Amino acid sequence: MKSFLSTKTMAIRGGTLILMLCLIVAVNAQDIGTDNSTNYDAAAKDFGGIISVKPLAFLAPLKSDDLARIVRSAYDSDNLTVAARGNGHSTNGQAMAKGGLVIAMRSVESGHFRLVKANGSAYYADVPGGALWEDVLDWCLGQGLSPRSMTDYLALTVGGTLSNAGVGGHTFRYGPHTSNVVGLEVITGKGEQVVCSEKENMELFFGALSGLGQFGIITRARILLQPAPEYVRWIRLVYAEFDEFTQDAESLITAPEGQSFNYIEGTAVVNSDDPINGWPSVPLHPNQTFNSTLIPKSAGPMLYFLEVALHYKNNDSRTAIDATVDVLLRRLRYVDGLEFQADVSYRDFLLRVKQEEQEARVQGAWYKPHPWLNIFLSRTDIAKFDQAVFKTVLKDGIGGRLLVYPVLRHKFDDRTSLVLPEAEIFYIVSILRLGLPIPNEPSVESMIAQNKEIIKVCEDNAFDYKLYLWNYETQEEWKTHFGKKWGIFAGRKMIFDPKAILSPGQNIFTRV
Ligand SMILES: Cc1cc2nc3c(=O)[nH]c(=O)nc-3n(C[C@H](O)[C@H](O)[C@H](O)COP(=O)(O)OP(=O)(O)OC[C@H]3O[C@@H](n4cnc5c(N)ncnc54)[C@H](O)[C@@H]3O)c2cc1C
Repeated sequence: MKSFLSTKTMAIRGGTLILMLCLIVAVNAQDIGTDNSTNYDAAAKDFGGIISVKPLAFLAPLKSDDLARIVRSAYDSDNLTVAARGNGHSTNGQAMAKGGLVIAMRSVESGHFRLVKANGSAYYADVPGGALWEDVLDWCLGQGLSPRSMTDYLALTVGGTLSNAGVGGHTFRYGPHTSNVVGLEVITGKGEQVVCSEKENMELFFGALSGLGQFGIITRARILLQPAPEYVRWIRLVYAEFDEFTQDAESLITAPEGQSFNYIEGTAVVNSDDPINGWPSVPLHPNQTFNSTLIPKSAGPMLYFLEVALHYKNNDSRTAIDATVDVLLRRLRYVDGLEFQADVSYRDFLLRVKQEEQEARVQGAWYKPHPWLNIFLSRTDIAKFDQAVFKTVLKDGIGGRLLVYPVLRHKFDDRTSLVLPEAEIFYIVSILRLGLPIPNEPSVESMIAQNKEIIKVCEDNAFDYKLYLWNYETQEEWKTHFGKKWGIFAGRKMIFDPKAILSPGQNIFTRV
């Protein structure tokens, strides 16, 4: 990717600068992001494919100093806003800026990775905010190290997930991405470059974590690492009864380290042989077959797959791994015979969704609209949710993935901007409509309406829940979402981005 912010251009301030940048962008910028045809158009698109607003310009500064100058110019202007665009994997225009400046974060400080040794045996990776997690992983593996907590899919940027939370199968043990970062470099809405951590500029540090891009643009992050395993035993277990599935999942996430798996997730699928929504939609190892005659007659419209993994090193004895797995599986109540194990490299395991992405691109599903719904829901309400939503509203499937797995609240740092249900154990429920071909494919409007229907089920039943990665349309709705954290959130905004320049696509504050 080329630089197009010359020093000469940067010396010009305010509106002239922006105008010049726009002209330069139109001719020079190259393939920014993942799904872009032309870059200017890409800034008005995201993975969701539902909302599209055109910015004034899509800019790709190479240095954080240049980015700080852009933010200062916007601050000095009458009405410009600035949206950091990570990899554009939001689903509701969160990284867009109507008539404003969209920043291609992947260009900023690109490739500048550094290993930092802390006191004792800890290591950290100092990485750009615009780095993709898959690149961070590969760089760390080259040092024999790995981030502790990973999302399911890694073509997301460090700054993008840190601005939300970054959850996945390691969250029950190590918390989300935001619990595994010890320092940030941030450009505030006033264009100031600030280093922050738990000990230094703490308000900005905790504000920016899960801060939806409202307090600053994360240009660097210091990520906690651990020695990388080389392999994982990847196991899928099928359940016909939801209560058995949840009891087993909860017993595994609450067991001490060393007495459980390293990774725990779960999915719900339609109890049928439909290749898109039924049990064949869960990819198994080529030498494994799913014997559907083993599904109990008592099973309802859905089946549940518990997905677990045990990390190990190449020189660990396979017999010892088998024995550990046996002990852990013995106490679980999955359907006898519907248990699938495979040994894969740690890297292949973490990049498993990449293959699904490639298939979805070939099928064209990747480019369709994706009205996603992500909910954090208390364990006390999950059984009712199963009845009212999985077994009723979604019983025919969604042409995508339904994730449902528990995590522990205390692994999330309450000082960040994230809001969570009250319960110590809550479920991550992800309704990931991938656009896979299904008969009588519903319209986008009806999928959005179905999402709203599901939210209404949560409201009507007074469930203890919070939406994740959602995009409310009004400040009143955001206030309700943040609840007692709203005062802190709004107060931090006044300090770090008083003119409400940053991340306008979240619809929380209005530019002043
Ligand atoms: C296929 C797929 C799989 C996913 N899997 C997971 C998963 O397993 N777990 C999970 O938690 N989430 C997952 N997500 C959601 C993902 O975390 C969000 O989309 C998130 O926004 C990261 O995407 P991004 O880096 O492209 O950020 P963008 O969508 O580009 O930006 C998201 C928001 O963050 C702001 N932002 C971006 N970069 C910065 C920065 N450097 N500093 C400050 N603000 C910034 C933007 O302005 C915007 O408001 C997935 C999404 C997709 C499409």
